Amino acid sequence: MEIKKIGVIGAGAMGNGIAQVCAQSGYDVIMRDIKDEFVERGIKSIDKFLSKSVEKGKLAEDDKKNILGKIKGTTRLEDLKDVDFVVEVAPEKIEIKHEIFKELEKITRPEVILATNTSSISITKIAASVERQDKVIGMHFFNPVPLMKLVELIRGIKTSDETMKTTLELAQKLGKEPVEVNVDVAGFIVNRLMITAAIEAIKLYENGVASKEDIDKALKLGLNWNMGPFELMDFTGVDINLNVMKELYDGLPKELKWDPPVTIKNMVVAGMLGRKTGEGWFKY
Ligand code: NAD
Repeated sequence: MEIKKIGVIGAGAMGNGIAQVCAQSGYDVIMRDIKDEFVERGIKSIDKFLSKSVEKGKLAEDDKKNILGKIKGTTRLEDLKDVDFVVEVAPEKIEIKHEIFKELEKITRPEVILATNTSSISITKIAASVERQDKVIGMHFFNPVPLMKLVELIRGIKTSDETMKTTLELAQKLGKEPVEVNVDVAGFIVNRLMITAAIEAIKLYENGVASKEDIDKALKLGLNWNMGPFELMDFTGVDINLNVMKELYDGLPKELKWDPPVTIKNMVVAGMLGRKTGEGWFKY
């Protein structure tokens, strides 16, 4: 089946980025959120990104119009009835994802692949809510989606080879570099390594071994990281990082468990969520 129209569930930070790269690559997109204002915010965010590209001379005004014209925002799930592929990009809560997948199974054709952009929930667990478990796959994009090349493709225990192949080809058509994760493990590749590094960085800081600034500097200059772990947590959201830490804690075997440190738990309670709230590990 040729993929022409892609459904995106969620118009938030990641959802609108995914909708944008799909439209930029020539696909028709239906982007669904639960309220008109969320849909409009998503479209505005895409418009803003594309307008900046026009200002910088990287995109023609006509191309911007064409891209925006390919994205239809909606609050009605029924509008996804004729899509050829779905990426679910709703909040990181298993109950929400289960409800969405059950609804998607009723609405979409049986051959349609249902991908999820989850950063930390087991693909197998998400797939368990539907019959077509062979057509459920993790398609994990990175933030900001239009700029980040990597997409992790994760197999749930029942994901078929055909589903992996189709999703891999789609990721390439979106201009991304896919990597295959063959076993549905907590954190997949990137978060498994990044989050454990972040926890160790926080522990070094809590134990007075080094300042946040020097830990970031050490990893940037010593390992060529673009951002240090504290900068990166502020960029991606301190709360999101804590959620992934909790998921990893639940999902990894005993000898690999890292308890989320007390400082990050307190920061989330206090609303210090990083750049988005003006303060996280650093002030903005
Ligand atoms: P977000 O909160 O910015 O966006 C989620 C959107 O989903 C919101 O606009 C919300 O209104 C909407 N939504 C809620 N219920 C819905 C429903 N039933 N149908 C359609 N839309 C619904 O979150 P985000 O940062 O875009 O993250 C979304 C997903 O992507 C999560 O699973 C997250 O773990 C994952 N992810 C996030 C990042 C990141 O850096 N933010 C990176 C990779 C993956």
